[in-house]
Amino acid sequence: MDNYIVSARKYRPSTFRSVVGQKALTQTLKNAIDSQKLAHAYLFCGPRGVGKTSCARIFAKTINCFHPTENGEACNECESCRAFNEQRSYNIIELDAASNNSVDDIRTLIDQVRIPPQIGQYKVFIIDEVHMLSAAAFNAFLKTLEEPPHHAIFILATTEKHKILPTILSRCQVYDFQRITTADIAEHLQYVASQEGISAEPEALNVIAQKADGGMRDALSIFDQVVSFSGGNITYKSVIENLNVLDYEYYFRLVDAFLQNDVPQALMIFKEIRDNGFEGQFFIGGLSRHLRDLLVCKDPVTLPLLEVSASVAQRYGEQAQKCPLPFLYRAMELSNRCDLDYRISNNKQFLVELTLIQICQITTPTTASPEGQPLQKITPAAPSATQPRQGSQAQPQQAPPHAAAPQTSEPQASYRIAATPAMTPGTKPSATHTPAPAPAGTAAKKSAPPVRISIHQKHEESQPEEAAPATPAILDTPFTIEALTAAWLEYTQTIPTEVLLVNTMQSCRPQLIDDHTFVVSVDSQIQVDCINEHFHELMSYLQTALKNNQFSMQLRIYQTGEKDIIFSPKDVLIKMIEKNPDVKNLYDTFDLEIA
Ligand SMILES: [Zn+2]
Repeated sequence: MDNYIVSARKYRPSTFRSVVGQKALTQTLKNAIDSQKLAHAYLFCGPRGVGKTSCARIFAKTINCFHPTENGEACNECESCRAFNEQRSYNIIELDAASNNSVDDIRTLIDQVRIPPQIGQYKVFIIDEVHMLSAAAFNAFLKTLEEPPHHAIFILATTEKHKILPTILSRCQVYDFQRITTADIAEHLQYVASQEGISAEPEALNVIAQKADGGMRDALSIFDQVVSFSGGNITYKSVIENLNVLDYEYYFRLVDAFLQNDVPQALMIFKEIRDNGFEGQFFIGGLSRHLRDLLVCKDPVTLPLLEVSASVAQRYGEQAQKCPLPFLYRAMELSNRCDLDYRISNNKQFLVELTLIQICQITTPTTASPEGQPLQKITPAAPSATQPRQGSQAQPQQAPPHAAAPQTSEPQASYRIAATPAMTPGTKPSATHTPAPAPAGTAAKKSAPPVRISIHQKHEESQPEEAAPATPAILDTPFTIEALTAAWLEYTQTIPTEVLLVNTMQSCRPQLIDDHTFVVSVDSQIQVDCINEHFHELMSYLQTALKNNQFSMQLRIYQTGEKDIIFSPKDVLIKMIEKNPDVKNLYDTFDLEIA
């Protein structure tokens, strides 16, 4: 390794066959040469480092070769080929339009077009980054392109095809170069390594290939970089350490923790990653990719989208087997939302941790809220025979110490969750007030999930004390969030003396989750108790106002720090999009960003 030549130069392909990852395209070029059907102008489009210039040079050499081989390659032995290989051929003229884009530069080139080749048949003019030519230069060039001498062939190369004028495009044969697949790059790196006598683990080369993102030139220069610090022995570990790549091992462990609902473990893995100097957003990006890779493993159709080495692919397959599809969808969504919110979040570490906690809870057996977050849900007993008791199995019916009436014969029962169960005596004597299996505060402390309190209420009859054996009429008029909010605020005017409740209701507005559920987020247990105190009156007021007694209300307490995130502009936008998908179209169409 004393005279180490940069691999990208040393292993620049010199035959069509050695061009990596562009088989179809090189075959077409070979066929064109074979059948003598050469165009006067070609346009090579594609991302950087995928072989455009290399192909142009090989093409120039091959069409000038005196003794092309049977399979259409240049012989590399004749005088023309030798001149090309020694870079002294006059039959190839390269212009880098990125730095030579003036009219004068083009005029100099045009002057050379007139002179016929001394040996060989064709002069090939390669204009790299042709989209960088100035408008005047383009115009000067156009005339030559329209009527070139028969010995001149132009090969224009660009990474930005859309910037090429239609007048140029229509005069060229267009070849679209694909970004090279990770597998192809890794395979070529393996070849280079073996030629150089360097041992390399396949996983390590795969990481390099992924990092190069489809460009062989980048891959080779990263390879050189890795060779220089690993001293001829490239291991996966040395590569991820030196290229600042996050070990996939973390993600495998993390997903295991998710599936076991192991919040502490997930948080500790994240801490480990932070301790190793990785930033939160980088980590979340990697998590999104890992989840995506698991998803593509679920279906043989999408399996080719997995760009990892064979041994790692097997691990992905095994972990994917353990992941239910809904889990993956939801986890990807949460991870993506975290990524979107990351920039605007004031507490970035908390945001990531919250996301991890939420993903951990996706597969918890408890009832999940529409946002995928388990709620401690208290479901009311059904008010009549027509409505079977919903969720009564999930909530053990404990003997309520303060129940006003036996539950069994109770047609209009409602459960409430409250630390202070007392109701004003005399109001609603027939309603049974069953506390939660444990008071809200205690329950929250006992279980790992966040403090969530929810109340379900259905079919609250307005006049329960009257002997009314009949089933209450089901009212199910659709209502909007505006109507709900209006009724919500109207109610506060009926209770002017209840200062705390009025304040709570004015500051904590309901949010519709679906047609029959709305959630109210409050700051404290005191506010929960306060709403519970007036629960029946409030619900029957809303039912009357909205002509609907089929909806339920959920109460929840903000977690520490959560409120900031909830009210971030991004969150407002997400909520808007949930309500009206057109907002997203608008956002996407105009490429808007929240400041
Ligand atoms: Zn030759």
